Amino acid sequence: MSEPRVVVVTGGSRGLGVAIVRSFLDDGDRVATCSRSATAHTDGWASDPATADRFHFAAADLSDRQACRAFVRGVIERFGRIDVLVNNAGVARDGVLGLTQDDDVDAVIDLNLKGTIETTRLVSRRMLRQGSGRIINISSVVGRSGYRGLSVYGATKAALDGFTRALARELGSRGITVNSVAPGYLRTEMTHGLDEGDLGQIVRRTPAGRLGEPEDVAAAVRFLASPEAAFITGHVLVVDGGLTS
Ligand code: NAP
Repeated sequence: MSEPRVVVVTGGSRGLGVAIVRSFLDDGDRVATCSRSATAHTDGWASDPATADRFHFAAADLSDRQACRAFVRGVIERFGRIDVLVNNAGVARDGVLGLTQDDDVDAVIDLNLKGTIETTRLVSRRMLRQGSGRIINISSVVGRSGYRGLSVYGATKAALDGFTRALARELGSRGITVNSVAPGYLRTEMTHGLDEGDLGQIVRRTPAGRLGEPEDVAAAVRFLASPEAAFITGHVLVVDGGLTS
């Protein structure tokens, strides 16, 4: 039997990241994740005898380039290779652009864009040496259709889809696919700021008639990482119940 894959999921301590980590662990893969703080989820996987020897957690702030390097180095030291990278860690700061503070603009760009690019830069070098790999960027429908108060966030997510398309062209001949998954609105900490009126309006405009669940998005990520998706690259897979269709 072949060795289990090594999957890196950034921001796997809560929200969507937890569902993505769980789905790869359930498939028997080795999974590494990071976030600024550990949670009951990451502590649980690290101590559960069913997952402890194939789960790696490191505290890392990916808006810091040195921390990206240390995290990727740690994964290689522990597991020796990286087969799948899921760039999931992201942050949103809600507010009218004209009133947005410098720190908020920097926090969103430094993590969503610079952190994702740096992590991918490091991991892609490893994948190029291996001659194979899957890179999946979690963008957002906000990068496609926009949402008031999320202009900086939307800019980073639209940029990620551009990053996906360009990198797919660069790495396609080297056995590496690069795709985006663009979720609609999910019930996670990130959407706690939306009031019930906003959420109700989103649901009414969604053909599927509900908000997304992290598991809906994790299933799309799992597919893009699977052998069946080998001929799909440079694609943005929208998972939004039809909201932006
Ligand atoms: P979330 O519940 O806020 O979780 C974000 C994750 O990223 C956490 O694990 C968090 O842990 C980590 N993180 C945040 N800042 C970090 C940093 N500087 N360095 C390293 N890790 C960091 O968000 P979510 O809803 O699961 O979102 C996950 C992804 O889906 C994001 O890219 C988001 O933009 C995208 N998305 C979400 C929705 C939605 O409706 N929720 C919709 C479309 C797209 P720490 O805070 O401990 O660092």
